[in-house]
Amino acid sequence: MLETVLTNGADGLGISLPTGAVGSFRAYHDFLYEKNAVMDLTAVAPEDDAARMHFLDSLALLPYIPDGASICDIGSGAGFPGLPIRLAKPDVKLTLIDANGKRTGFLSELCPVCGVHDANVVTGRAEELSLKPEFRDAYDVCVSRAVARLNMLCELCLPFVKEGGLFLAMKAGSCGEELDEAGRAISLLGAHLEPMVTYPIPGTKLTRTLIRIRKDGPTPKGYPRRFAKIKAKPL
Ligand code: SAM
Repeated sequence: MLETVLTNGADGLGISLPTGAVGSFRAYHDFLYEKNAVMDLTAVAPEDDAARMHFLDSLALLPYIPDGASICDIGSGAGFPGLPIRLAKPDVKLTLIDANGKRTGFLSELCPVCGVHDANVVTGRAEELSLKPEFRDAYDVCVSRAVARLNMLCELCLPFVKEGGLFLAMKAGSCGEELDEAGRAISLLGAHLEPMVTYPIPGTKLTRTLIRIRKDGPTPKGYPRRFAKIKAKPL
């Protein structure tokens, strides 16, 4: 049952969920699978698998999120990992960004369903939004899961992170080649790598590697480039 898997998994991660959070995750789950019947939001099976592969996978980022942080989730899709983080840590200020208007429409309906009334849901392409002053170098933490290969993802996400802030990229357990490929992008975008962390996705045999990238200064002028360029010639 979702509630049991979630509570035990959170215990295993050393996270104490705030009062009412389990009910909010139940509301999230039920709304997600109701809409999934018509919208193609997730291929993960409901209940226990959703608790592990969506909720606990997202919650494993909590130890890296400072109190009161502003967070932007790039390519949030059905809200992962940003919304579960906000449910477990209500002091964060959350922005969910996705290029797909149907998905952001879903997110705008979903947030109040699970009791979140202060999230900023934005429709747009990351590489265009971060050229605007309100998004550029503006967030304490940027998070992203399953959006692009790391060398491209750095150019999509790092411009949102303020000086001294953190980009957390959720990758598969074996991502060494991707990481090697991204070294140039990380330094060109004014950041450096912190030690990565590898752990099992709670309750599964799958391994997650969390890439942690610290921003050292403002985003250099000229970045991000247009998407066609990012794709054709990753940094
Ligand atoms: N992060 C969610 C998760 O892990 O379940 C969704 C992953 S889904 C495979 C990728 C999402 O990234 C899609 O919703 C897509 O619209 C969005 N996306 C891809 N490129 C993007 C870009 N350049 N800017 C904003 N969103 C983007």
